[in-house]
Amino acid sequence: METVTDKTPLEAWQQKIARAQRAAAGRSKHVAALAKKLKEAEHEQSTAAYAERILSGVLKGWKENDPGKHGPAYRFVGASGRPVVVEELLSPEERAEARAKHLPVVPFGGVATKLCHRCSPGKLLPVIEEYCQTEDGPDGDTWTKRRLIACPDCCAVFKTGETEESDRRF
Ligand SMILES: [Zn+2]
Repeated sequence: METVTDKTPLEAWQQKIARAQRAAAGRSKHVAALAKKLKEAEHEQSTAAYAERILSGVLKGWKENDPGKHGPAYRFVGASGRPVVVEELLSPEERAEARAKHLPVVPFGGVATKLCHRCSPGKLLPVIEEYCQTEDGPDGDTWTKRRLIACPDCCAVFKTGETEESDRRF
């Protein structure tokens, strides 16, 4: 049996168009929400990858012969504010190597710390210096130092203090 309707064929057709428009708008909204989520997940992923690079890099950063020249070098920052090497992370041979390079070797307790801004309650994390040549060209060079904390629990990275720049190694 046919449904009784007072709509003309044109009105029925227009109503279907309106429904299709609403559905399209709904789908666009849905896609936009997913795109936002994807962007957040990608940001989270790149931050976590950055945290991992810092935390892995700092273990052997002091061994680099040309630190910062071919990508960022990571070093622990001592209470004095200068880069240090952590005694407990060194083998006896490495301890001798660090001393031969005149690098200050300190116990882990002698590394400067800051609280993770994301973990609650905040965890104390060692301050790490990221050191690299950010420009290398005929118009001059730029070397940059940034102080960071990277949290192995929440995989966040935070900058602490000001970025320092120089036109030569410093
Ligand atoms: Zn954290």
